[in-house]
Amino acid sequence: MKKVIVIGLGQGGALVAGKLALAGYDVEVFERASRGATSHDWHDDIRFDIFEICGIAPPPTHCYTQKSKWLFVSPDEKNSLKVPPAKPMEEVSVSRRGLVDHLVALAEESGAKVHFDTPVERLVLDGDSVVGVVVDGEELHADLVVDASGFNSPFRAQIPAKFGVPAEAGKGGVMKGWRGFFVRNEEAETPNPESTLYVKHLDGAGISWCNLNDRNEVDVLIGRIDTLTEEDKDKCLEALYKSHPILTDQVLKEGKWVDIGLRCTAGGIVADGYALVGDSAFMTMPFMGSGIEASMKAGLWLGEHIISTNPDKFDAEHLWGYQVKYFEELGASYTLVDVVKRWALNINPDEINWLFGCGAVTNEDMALLSTDTENPVKLTLGDILKKVGILLKNGHLIGQAIKWVLKGVNAMNVAKKLPKKYNLKKVQKWQNKYDNIIVKIERGKQ
Ligand SMILES: Cc1cc2nc3c(=O)[nH]c(=O)nc-3n(C[C@H](O)[C@H](O)[C@H](O)COP(=O)(O)OP(=O)(O)OC[C@H]3O[C@@H](n4cnc5c(N)ncnc54)[C@H](O)[C@@H]3O)c2cc1C
Repeated sequence: MKKVIVIGLGQGGALVAGKLALAGYDVEVFERASRGATSHDWHDDIRFDIFEICGIAPPPTHCYTQKSKWLFVSPDEKNSLKVPPAKPMEEVSVSRRGLVDHLVALAEESGAKVHFDTPVERLVLDGDSVVGVVVDGEELHADLVVDASGFNSPFRAQIPAKFGVPAEAGKGGVMKGWRGFFVRNEEAETPNPESTLYVKHLDGAGISWCNLNDRNEVDVLIGRIDTLTEEDKDKCLEALYKSHPILTDQVLKEGKWVDIGLRCTAGGIVADGYALVGDSAFMTMPFMGSGIEASMKAGLWLGEHIISTNPDKFDAEHLWGYQVKYFEELGASYTLVDVVKRWALNINPDEINWLFGCGAVTNEDMALLSTDTENPVKLTLGDILKKVGILLKNGHLIGQAIKWVLKGVNAMNVAKKLPKKYNLKKVQKWQNKYDNIIVKIERGKQ
């Protein structure tokens, strides 16, 4: 029986633990948080069909409700666009703790041994191979260590450089956020739609939202690319008080500082004895709120790859098929979104105001900017052309738009061309090319 250690009980970690335990692997999971207090004490949006895709039951009905409707507002707050609602229950707002508790219950029923309040201190390496972890000062050995410890995984930095696993997300790779929940002003009118998202709020590189959820809480998020100061957060909050009579200063849940992954997937997500799943591999589609599903799908595909190939050794060569599957299904299209995102952040607020106000972008177009599409992750040529079409309607931005979309398509094509069979030299050559695209864009070289 092969031994697998999973670090972290995010959605991806819990899912892969359950799949492998059910198939007879000896699976041990270490989570630093306590049982019942893992993940966030709030709801986030997912597509409901993720449970069917992963072949598991959905969580109990009290854990989710219909996703709320969204309004996007221009930086000058003069114009707004409504995101058309998806079909009923196609997308749901799910309790983060409820979802993780559900996945943990499934993993434990399948035979995984789960340890809460148990942080993994570091990886154990023998030469270039990961052979275990250190927990409570003790070395525990395993054939495979799955790193599902989230965006700030300290373990990536321990992996030998030859595998191309980046230690950090790099510039433009994170949205520093603050999220708090407030008592609703009962005298204020209920907003319609319930959720408002400010693009480049107060002209900053990021977003703010104010959302009256169906638990009658006012949910506030303020996010900025790479840095969010306390002062900027307070200014945005002050502005939200003015524009949202529904928002009071009575705190329901203390504000929490968070990191939201914004960059495309790491070029190396496997090494000898080691695989990354979820945010630890930067698997969120930049700005599209898809990290939960991406993490669950990655957990599913890693599990399926291992079960179907049943390797004697979990080296990078044997795990490579998982990386290929991930890039073919999701990772390559995320690269396009990352490149376009980097451009969008550089457009000045006046141009965004124009885009909102000129009538070129319609409410229907906004469906492309949410996860409300039939398949939000597989970008067809039609989707891409439609996105290009949205941008091309703006005369001022046409030159820039063409340049950046072409860069994005080029990045996606590079990502798609990862070697299908593992050969260290070929893999490294591809990783350099892939990583350089984003680095060069950041340095303004492309
Ligand atoms: C404000 C906010 C809003 C979001 N909204 C959405 C949304 O609407 N839809 C969506 O799909 N995604 C959303 N996301 C992104 C989503 O939260 C992540 O993409 C997703 O949770 C990634 O899951 P994961 O499986 O990688 O694990 P994580 O959820 O990152 O969990 C990692 C786990 O590892 C544990 N851990 C860390 N270090 C150690 C250690 N050393 N030892 C043991 N355990 C450890 C942590 O305690 C944690 O439980 C949002 C994120 C934020 C912050």
